Amino acid sequence: MLKRFFLFTILSLSISCFSQKELLLVYTGNMGVYITNHTSSVLIDGLHTEYGKDYLFPPVSLTHKITHQLRPDAIIFTHHHGDHFSAPLADEYLKANKTALLYGSQQITKEISTHPDRLISIITNDYTPQTSVLKDLKITGIKINHAGKRHITVENVGYIIDFGHKKILHVGDTNWMEDIHLFDQLQLIKKDIDIAILPYWMLLEHQAPILIKKYINPKRIIATHISPRITKDELFDLQNKYPTVDFLTKLEQRIQL
Ligand SMILES: [Zn+2]
Repeated sequence: MLKRFFLFTILSLSISCFSQKELLLVYTGNMGVYITNHTSSVLIDGLHTEYGKDYLFPPVSLTHKITHQLRPDAIIFTHHHGDHFSAPLADEYLKANKTALLYGSQQITKEISTHPDRLISIITNDYTPQTSVLKDLKITGIKINHAGKRHITVENVGYIIDFGHKKILHVGDTNWMEDIHLFDQLQLIKKDIDIAILPYWMLLEHQAPILIKKYINPKRIIATHISPRITKDELFDLQNKYPTVDFLTKLEQRIQL
């Protein structure tokens, strides 16, 4: 009897440890991800509207689901481009979810006229990481330059969401930018990143596997910002080159992390 009791205790302990560790990611379009540990949750780059044929966006039904069912504790934005951010949708979200916070650069937070007490601005003067605590999460914002010379004034912020046992990095619209030694300055290699969410073009660089290992060294990679117009062959080639990478291409695609 006693033996059976111990077996039961060990079993239920290991089950609860297992479920505690499991994170769920739901894809919401372009670079949008909802991530939850079933106690706390965040949505990164998940509220935006139609921007062009190369950008998957959450339709009204999904925005409604985010606002009324998923209800992330924080809506987080990397930058103000229309394939990542919509000020009216963010405003509506804060109105419907009275304790939710919004994270973004000043270019984002200045667009939200209401709820100033629930806006967290990430300063992009230098590469200083800025960390705050939200329930059982630690959320760190850090300037990561936007890719492309014509976007030099865009304040792009990367985030590290620390779920305690797992750290997830989302970099927004950046690239390796070795000309400005970007990733040398970021020192993400010291952050013990478990999962890196990257725009897929960072995998196209022929040195990409070396750069990923040298600058981030994550245990797992999730590729985003994939155009809905990508051909089957192009996607197949990418999947072949990176068999362990998850490629987000379908709205509400789910990944256990
Ligand atoms: Zn952009």
